[in-house]
Amino acid sequence: MTADEYLAFLEDRAPVRSRMLRAAVICVLGFYLACFLFDLWLLGDVTLLSAILRFGVMLPIAIGLLFYINGRHPIERKEVAAILVALLANISWCVILVSSSSPGVLTYYYAAASFQMAVTIAAASPFRPALRATLFTFCLNYSAIWFLEGSTPAYVIQHLAVYMPTVIMTLFASYQLEVEAMTSHVKVQENEALKRELSRQNKDLARLSVTDPLTRLANRRGTEMELARLRTESPQMAQRVVLLVADVDHFKAFNDAYGHGAGDDCLKRVARAMRRSLPIEAHLARHGGEEFLAILADADADMAPALAESLRRAVRQLGIAHGFTGDRNKHVTISVGAACGAVEAEGDFDRLLDIADRALYAAKADGRNAWRVSLENEAERVVA
Ligand code: GH3
Ligand code: MG
Ligand code: MG
Repeated sequence: MTADEYLAFLEDRAPVRSRMLRAAVICVLGFYLACFLFDLWLLGDVTLLSAILRFGVMLPIAIGLLFYINGRHPIERKEVAAILVALLANISWCVILVSSSSPGVLTYYYAAASFQMAVTIAAASPFRPALRATLFTFCLNYSAIWFLEGSTPAYVIQHLAVYMPTVIMTLFASYQLEVEAMTSHVKVQENEALKRELSRQNKDLARLSVTDPLTRLANRRGTEMELARLRTESPQMAQRVVLLVADVDHFKAFNDAYGHGAGDDCLKRVARAMRRSLPIEAHLARHGGEEFLAILADADADMAPALAESLRRAVRQLGIAHGFTGDRNKHVTISVGAACGAVEAEGDFDRLLDIADRALYAAKADGRNAWRVSLENEAERVVA
């Protein structure tokens, strides 16, 4: 894990750390206050001091700490505050024990290990503050130990024999906790990255499934989607639609003469020119082969001739040479058939497409590089 990833991990765990810290403080506080009973039992000569330090000093400080932990402060500060309060509690405990002349003090001092556990738990994660807190507590306890009534070097060594395993085991548990938390954090991050990648790929796939790879226009499926969107989102606009079908003239001859690659390039240029010539809101799709389809919703039938003419002119103006048309025209051109009507219901579109197709064949029959508009129940209008 890099330094930045580690910081992100700590940040991510902040709410959990805050909750754990609150729970740890409440547990440790309960234990610390309950220890007054041990003081009563084992250290009869310092009962008043114990009561003052435990209930008069440490309890208000711990309540203040709980308020601080519940506040909106950075988790690192809350953890440092908790460790400081635990150290303070440890100091006051040492003061109580050092002040006592009771013979039970040496046995009781073994409980120092519990303070060490308390600070390590309070700073369970991250590991580094826990380690630091442990070292502080260690220094504190082994400074105070010499001032205990009846303390000897042999006693200190015995004490260390109990204390050290506790320190090592607790630190080990704290480290293990952090490693496990880091591992699950990394897994969660990886899962999220995977999810993001998957959703990006799904979006790409959805886009690809409606896009023609050669011209980057919509494909048939894209047209179906557009019609469905129109029907559900703008049913009123679906009542008045201009449909244009455009077919490249003599394209087979173009392919035969100039090659399939040149044919592909030609289709791309034709597609781009048609796209530029149409209003932005118009839907343009490659309907198959060298046939294109344009839909302009919420459009008057009167707009059809202008739209068809602008398509025809845009392609002709590309000036792509085509010496094999077999007629007097020596450039790539298109013929356009247009129909107007509603596409509200299923089947409407196919019917409109049939009408536009018939207009297209009429334009082809009329010599190509032309358009025809076929209005339902109306005679076709032709422009050469
Ligand atoms: P018309 O003027 O009557 O439309 O004649 P046409 O030759 O254009 O029509 P036809 O249907 O006979 O030929 C269409 C040609 O379009 C045949 C096919 O090779 C070519 N074609 C279809 N799709 C592609 C494509 O993706 N790339 C290329 N290069 N050619 C294509
Ligand atoms: Mg053709
Ligand atoms: Mg064709």
